[in-house]
Amino acid sequence: MFEKLRQAFSSLTKVVSEKKLSERDIDDVLFNFQLTLLESDVAQEVVEKLTNDLRTQLTGASIERSKDVGDLVQTRLRDSILEVFKKAGSVDILERIETSKKKGEPFVVLFLGINGTGKTTTVAKFTYFLKQNGFSVVIAAGDTHRAGAIEQLTQHADRISVRVIAQRYGADPAAVARDGVLYAKSHHIDVLIVDTAGRMQTNQNLMEEMGKIVRVVSPNLKIFIGDSLAGNDAISQAQMFRKYTDFDGAILTKADADTKGGAALSIAYVTERPIMFLGVGQEFKDLRKFDPTAFVDLLLG
Ligand code: GDP
Repeated sequence: MFEKLRQAFSSLTKVVSEKKLSERDIDDVLFNFQLTLLESDVAQEVVEKLTNDLRTQLTGASIERSKDVGDLVQTRLRDSILEVFKKAGSVDILERIETSKKKGEPFVVLFLGINGTGKTTTVAKFTYFLKQNGFSVVIAAGDTHRAGAIEQLTQHADRISVRVIAQRYGADPAAVARDGVLYAKSHHIDVLIVDTAGRMQTNQNLMEEMGKIVRVVSPNLKIFIGDSLAGNDAISQAQMFRKYTDFDGAILTKADADTKGGAALSIAYVTERPIMFLGVGQEFKDLRKFDPTAFVDLLLG
């Protein structure tokens, strides 16, 4: 997982530890570092932040022993990355659901994202996670456009014994979501998850559709689903959704297959929203809570 980004960090630490660097050396080293970051799907803005933080540290430090410079670089990188995640904040999902439950209200979660990113699978994984934590869940099939979407969702839901509220294809997704709320209220269900469409070619319509669902059901939480493997596309999708339907957090899928590693850092930085979970496989159990410290430990070794 994330080999390329790990390699970028360890190569930089190795180079600065091996010899004392002149100003010119620092420029060269940082230039190469920037290239490897870009190759690891780290967004341009984040590359600039990381290298600027390091440059200040490296040029400002009057350190004689190069081993100390290696340590300094590691510490600076760790701090810079943690700073990005700190700024993005965090969501204590279980606590928030518990609060709604105490008030006797269903907690409504809206899933946003483009088709093919793993959204349907993630709805199922997230539902499974909530059930494991003792909450009852119902799902509204808000993708009324894509052929087979309702059946796919229902198949997953059947395997975890959760009911799907659906209408016919072509129905208004906001009406389906409202049906879901009414069902959750009348059956005292703790959480309603609203799946949505994610067709790429009609951005404007899709964004209007999301806006209407938000107005009709006022979700407690909006989660963007991004595909770790999609690189810069995942980052621009996150920006697009953030612009029209500001979300509260993100789940990144397919992290298990991601050899690069830049997506989590980039999406958190660019959207200033937390990465809540990583999808780490195709099974329902393969959803892992994202922990910034564990992420940095993995990257910096
Ligand atoms: P949707 O079109 O966004 O609803 O995407 P799907 O949920 O149908 O997922 C597309 C493909 O990605 C399926 O083959 C999933 O099994 C796979 N997938 C989803 N999440 C993950 C993940 O975290 N890791 C891996 N390896 N595959 C995933």
